[in-house]
Amino acid sequence: MADFRGPVHLAAVEVERAVPAGTPGAFALGFARPQEGAVFISYVGRSDTDLRAAVLAHVGSRYTACFYLPLESAAEAYAEECRLWHEMGAMELDSGDHPVPPGDHACPVCD
Ligand SMILES: [Zn+2]
Repeated sequence: MADFRGPVHLAAVEVERAVPAGTPGAFALGFARPQEGAVFISYVGRSDTDLRAAVLAHVGSRYTACFYLPLESAAEAYAEECRLWHEMGAMELDSGDHPVPPGDHACPVCD
């Protein structure tokens, strides 16, 4: 997830400051472990239309940290979500179901 930005603390003020609205994108949520300098990713998602709104929907959940990546199209957001989903644990994630494509797109990892 080299291109992803963050981590951002998963709170409304920080998300609104950092994550762009009105754009497709992919994101990952997890738990910051500052002592280890690491964030453990437990959830992978995307938005086809509004990345900020999608991340804000998880504020107040048990996750404490967010990585995000704005992208040009829903197809790109889906492809990045798929790569991250497979890389970060696939069915072991809280988001354990394979990402569902926006229309007629194939997963770049499965296909
Ligand atoms: Zn796949």
